[in-house]
Amino acid sequence: MAPSGAGSPRTLLRRLREIMAEQTSAQARLDRLVSVIASIMVAEVCSIYLRRAGGAFELFATEGLNREAVHRTRMKQGEGLVGLVAETAEPVNLSDAFGHPSFSYRPETGEDPYHSFLGVPIVRGGQVYGVLTVQNRVARQYEEEEVEAVQTVAMVLAEVVAHGGLFDIAELDEPELRPDRPLTFHGDGLCEGIAIGTVVLHEPRVKVEHLIADDPQAELARLDMALAGLRSAVDSMLDSGELDLTGESREVIEAYRLFAQDQGWQQKLHDAVRTGLTAEGAVERVQDELRLRVSRISDPFLRERLHDFEDLARRLQRELVGKSTSDGTRDLPQNAVLIARAMGPAELLDYGRDRLVALLVEDATATSHVAIVARAMGLALVGGTKGIADTARAGDPIVVDGESGEAQLRPPAEIVSVFEARRTLREQRVAQFAAVRDLPAVTRDGVAIQLMMNAGLLIDMPHLDESGADGVGLFRTELQFMIGETMPRLADQIAFYRRIIDAAGDKPVVFRTLDLGGDKILPYGRWDREENPALGWRAIRIALDRPALLRYQVRALLMASADKVLRVLLPMVSDVSEFNAARALIDRELERARLMGLPQPRQTLVGAMLEVPALMFMLPQILRSADFVSIGSNDLFQFIFAVDRTNPRVARRYDALSPAALTVIRQIVRSAGDANGEVSLCGEMAGRPLEAMALIGAGVRTLSMQPANIGAVKIMIRSLDTREIAHFVDGLCGRTDHSLRTRLAAFAAERGVMIK
Ligand code: PEP
Ligand code: MG
Repeated sequence: MAPSGAGSPRTLLRRLREIMAEQTSAQARLDRLVSVIASIMVAEVCSIYLRRAGGAFELFATEGLNREAVHRTRMKQGEGLVGLVAETAEPVNLSDAFGHPSFSYRPETGEDPYHSFLGVPIVRGGQVYGVLTVQNRVARQYEEEEVEAVQTVAMVLAEVVAHGGLFDIAELDEPELRPDRPLTFHGDGLCEGIAIGTVVLHEPRVKVEHLIADDPQAELARLDMALAGLRSAVDSMLDSGELDLTGESREVIEAYRLFAQDQGWQQKLHDAVRTGLTAEGAVERVQDELRLRVSRISDPFLRERLHDFEDLARRLQRELVGKSTSDGTRDLPQNAVLIARAMGPAELLDYGRDRLVALLVEDATATSHVAIVARAMGLALVGGTKGIADTARAGDPIVVDGESGEAQLRPPAEIVSVFEARRTLREQRVAQFAAVRDLPAVTRDGVAIQLMMNAGLLIDMPHLDESGADGVGLFRTELQFMIGETMPRLADQIAFYRRIIDAAGDKPVVFRTLDLGGDKILPYGRWDREENPALGWRAIRIALDRPALLRYQVRALLMASADKVLRVLLPMVSDVSEFNAARALIDRELERARLMGLPQPRQTLVGAMLEVPALMFMLPQILRSADFVSIGSNDLFQFIFAVDRTNPRVARRYDALSPAALTVIRQIVRSAGDANGEVSLCGEMAGRPLEAMALIGAGVRTLSMQPANIGAVKIMIRSLDTREIAHFVDGLCGRTDHSLRTRLAAFAAERGVMIK
């Protein structure tokens, strides 16, 4: 097999184009393809396997193996080397195929004499449609150029499969994903709102007609022109006043502008054109690679960056075929519900906010760039609904609950009524919460409970006023670091914190210093993979090992809090000396500001998060150093129950409403009270009315939660008597139930405590 010359991608592509131009059946074309590929690549065998319903891979054409095996040999999902290529979506290049553990012997194919094996996936739209293989008698590893050439051919093949009428492409979908019957999807509720509307598929994919270049030089020129067009389109999108983006949604889009100028990406596109592809073909090829990488990367921040590139690639494709970017978005129906596998922030903006009511993005998480923009646009958003983009059809009716994460495709009339009722209820609830907004959170027996909100981005700040929260009890500063492209500079940090403090007005804001590590990884810098990241190098541990990071953050917070009270909260404190070391660093920054005559806060309060069980046993001591303590129940119970909070198999196995958990909280509050210390709770449980009731029963008097939950918790508080609940919780702590949920709900019902 010649690595270049006869076997070069260009020669191959030219021959492929001739075959595609022939007027013949798809099967005959595949037969011709395998024989031409085999001869040009000097391979004894070339075969094409395509995926059929149920996920099996069927031999569709072969040169070199027994012809009788065609349409007979089927490899089940994950079976054999073909299955391995499909599963990993990576080329498999072996000099000794028989020796590989995945090898599966099929006597009917007659492949005994062929030792070397090269298989590449046939990929389109991020899905593996088939596998292209070449085999040779001599045992040898295929050269990198050869692998490249076969990959390019596989891409062209993907188009034949999609358009060639080999069989109904829909057959490639899993049968259970294709029916017309109603389907329910459960994802993550990322932005609240109930939507009842019509499916619009986000299909910005432009159908590429010509993949193989006539004149590579001319294609390079076309590519350059399109890139220039893309850059200026992105610039004008950003500069138009229309978008009215502020804060982090603007930052996300600014980072996107930088991507449009990314040299590495442009280089990849140029290289792909040089292999003999058209400019569109090159974009397709680079995009396919990206999609595959996205699908296999678990780091959410890296995935976000790749999504932005995908967005750009699709935009570039439109530049090349001369379609305006907003072409597909002009004829949106009223109440459009947009469905996408993945979506970049700029693509969402293209749709405008007039007709959209909701968005379902399979790949979105709370910190996705598209989620940040959706929130700014006031759309309901559900992420993680795997399979919906393949199943839904444009025009399908759909209902979406952006809070619970539920979506019903083609819902029966009764379900639509349920959602209508839910929407009305939500509107009533919003009205009800608005009505209690200005009422004090005081129990029936006159005990005031402080209700604070959790925040992390500038977009969250208007909720302070809307919800009537007493302040921000937890500001997760790491979110700002996570959405950017680079580490925010000191001046940026000062400006950001100042905006938060200004937005809060007279209300306090508790700034938690960077809680990085674990599952919160920055998109820049180097991070080593850890076996147990939740127990690893995170939060204050990083801050003490890399003091410059904390010092700069503290410096920015001090500057931004001039003449105000600054509240700083240190995350994941495990022992008192750790807290003291961080506090000393803060004191040094204060001293520096004093010596340099810089603006400083009127008062600086430093608190510790109680998330590590060891610190529970040091409460009196930590309260001598810390001005306040905030219980991070999300982490604390993860460690107390030894369950990974990010692992859905176990995350809900134990209940925070259990005798052990309530005893822990009660003990912490008592111990803090004995030391005259202040303790609050800012984990997710604070925002659930039943849990909040139990927490108040255990003695907690300050709760910090998602702003959307403040109304419901306040209504509960105003109907509660603290003496009754304290007595009841005391009794519960002595029990042995797995969960106290039913007992607490019965208590609420009996005593007229309003739990939504
Ligand atoms: C917690 O652990 O309860 C907490 C509030 O912090 P985070 O959820 O950001 O880890
Ligand atoms: Mg935590």
